[in-house]
Amino acid sequence: MAETSFPSLVVHKDRLEAQGSFAESQAQYLDPDPRTVQELDTLVRQKNAGIVAHYYMAPELQGVLARLTWPHVHISDSLLMADKAVAMVEGGASTPGAERIVVLGVDFMSENARAMLDKAGHRETPVYRVAADPIGCSLAEAAESSRYLAFLDRAASVPRALHVVYINTSLRTKAEAHARVPTITVTSSNVVNTILTAFAEIPDVEVFFGPDTYMGRNLANLFRTLTTLGDAAVKSVHPAHDVASITRLLERFHFFDEGHCIVHHMFGAEVAERVRTHYPHAYVTAHLEVPGEMFELALAARREGRGVVGSTSDILTFITTKIRDAAKKPEAATLSFVLGTETGMVTSIVGAVQAALRETGRDDVACEIVFPVASEAITRTNEPNLLVVPGVAGGEGCSVEGGCATCPYMKMNSLDALFDLLRSLPAPQAAEPVHLKVFHPNPYEDLVAGRTIADLGGEPILHMRGFQKSGHIPPDLHAHVTSRVPAPPPGP
Ligand code: SF4
Repeated sequence: MAETSFPSLVVHKDRLEAQGSFAESQAQYLDPDPRTVQELDTLVRQKNAGIVAHYYMAPELQGVLARLTWPHVHISDSLLMADKAVAMVEGGASTPGAERIVVLGVDFMSENARAMLDKAGHRETPVYRVAADPIGCSLAEAAESSRYLAFLDRAASVPRALHVVYINTSLRTKAEAHARVPTITVTSSNVVNTILTAFAEIPDVEVFFGPDTYMGRNLANLFRTLTTLGDAAVKSVHPAHDVASITRLLERFHFFDEGHCIVHHMFGAEVAERVRTHYPHAYVTAHLEVPGEMFELALAARREGRGVVGSTSDILTFITTKIRDAAKKPEAATLSFVLGTETGMVTSIVGAVQAALRETGRDDVACEIVFPVASEAITRTNEPNLLVVPGVAGGEGCSVEGGCATCPYMKMNSLDALFDLLRSLPAPQAAEPVHLKVFHPNPYEDLVAGRTIADLGGEPILHMRGFQKSGHIPPDLHAHVTSRVPAPPPGP
């Protein structure tokens, strides 16, 4: 592998081909030991535990989860995780419900699952994290800073302010925010639609987005780009808008400027330049959380039909669609995709791509997943053919589990930790030992504005659910924005 190349994994119908040690370890994890799979399958059945996991879990863990035959296992982005937890507890006609839920993700994900189960009337169903210590997130921490409170106070002083908060924040942040400014939660898969709908449906609304600065900047960039593309292109993104309305809303879109995801921060200018130089014909994918250079590269590629910017789900759909399209053509092909997001996504991509290729029976169509990694986030080796590998050199955003472009918080959810937790759970129907309470999400029983944090912080999430169902800003949120009396401006 030349120093200019990134590690990659080539996905064929029935096999994987790894380039570089990092990709080799990913490939190995995707083919787990059947005894481990069997052991976990037996354990989750015995404990009647549903598992909801985020796409960013380590491939070692996802590889095993993907092989379980137990029906109550789900891997997705954060939006669906809480819904699936509720569905698992409720069960179906032929599937009895799970008695408890284990969340594999960071703490705001278990908090969301707890909040949604409570709202669905399942307060007695225990929710567990797999670590006794907090499982943080650099974005969630940024939103708990005094700078973020100052941002919210500024928003509160503005008439018709709507705070759009990224889901990667604690229930405490959501409650503190909603007590000051009407707030709606978003994920990367619905943020564009939510903001554009708010601008279309609430006259003169001022949108304050946070805490992810790269995402805020990328959204502003996306909106600015739309103004250059003409009305038809704008309407294909949101039917209620045209170039004039997007131009007007730019002045009323504000974002927090000090919140970063330490993982997506790795996809900086150097990575973008190497992609541009060495992968000129590859498809480029970029999560909305990545820094501007990588985002712009993917945005430019999208204009040529060679790229996607958006959520983890958008990236997965883009890759599988391109592979299905290639499989419809008679000629052999290997399509390369630069993966501009956390590497844990690779497990779901491999599963989806192999399923698509098996359906078509094509041995001669393949998908190369390229893992772009910054040079400050790699290890130099003495191997003449392998000068750099993404890996354990350290630094924020790197972890010994999966190298760089992996989230150290997410990787606190190890396979061993899952086994340990499941073994310590009581048998179904038995009382829970007190020592397991440390694995529960924070109950957030303290009060903000006279309501518990759990209750008040759940409201912005329910507004998001309402938006997801109806496609409109929920009427109570709309009324809150238009009728609220602004607070006095914050002092100097
Ligand atoms: S990748 Fe990790 S640090 Fe980044 S937003 Fe997700 S949980 Fe937070």
